[in-house]
Amino acid sequence: MFCTNCGKEINDNAAICPYCGVVANKTALSNASNSNSNQSNTMAIVGFIFSFFFALVGLICSIIGFKKAAELGGNGKGLALAGIIISSISIIITIIVFIVVIGGALAFAGSVA
Ligand SMILES: [Zn+2]
Repeated sequence: MFCTNCGKEINDNAAICPYCGVVANKTALSNASNSNSNQSNTMAIVGFIFSFFFALVGLICSIIGFKKAAELGGNGKGLALAGIIISSISIIITIIVFIVVIGGALAFAGSVA
């Protein structure tokens, strides 16, 4: 496309004309600000990362990130959802392991006594 101000040919995706600095493509500019808000959904990213190490923290952050994703028009929604699923599975596994360990300890205590 061509700059509306100076008429020079510029990249279709360029938000600002590199020759005169005038805002050339308002769509590209709003897309750029959308991708900025995409980056600002750190809760989804934090929740996703934490879901591997601290499932409960990951779950809480992912839920917050998921709600924030709705505000941001779906940005980070998939990541937040993945964080919720992974942390939920981690919590379930932790509970199962806990029950098995307690059950085993009780069975061991029973066999000793
Ligand atoms: Zn220009």
